[in-house]
Amino acid sequence: MSQPSYVWVLSGIAARGLMMSIYGWMSQAKRVQIRKILDAWRTRPGTGIRNREKMACPRGHPYDTVLRRKSGPARRCSICYRAWWAENGHRYRRSAAP
Ligand SMILES: [Zn+2]
Repeated sequence: MSQPSYVWVLSGIAARGLMMSIYGWMSQAKRVQIRKILDAWRTRPGTGIRNREKMACPRGHPYDTVLRRKSGPARRCSICYRAWWAENGHRYRRSAAP
């Protein structure tokens, strides 16, 4: 039996985390395959990332902002985000005052 090593991770939602952790030492070709699998996962209804189904922030505002981060997009409502930034922004702003 010589199956490609990636086949066994294809089943089960729990395999997703494993797939992410082995991603780093996959060959380029396998990375492409894994990306396709993860994309299919994300777009499949009901099985994607849970946050996808959340349409409002904990305070009930609709999410209308997407932050791009290294770890992936994060959704924010602009109301809470602005409030947070007004409160904490000075720690991150570096002489960039307009
Ligand atoms: Zn909010």
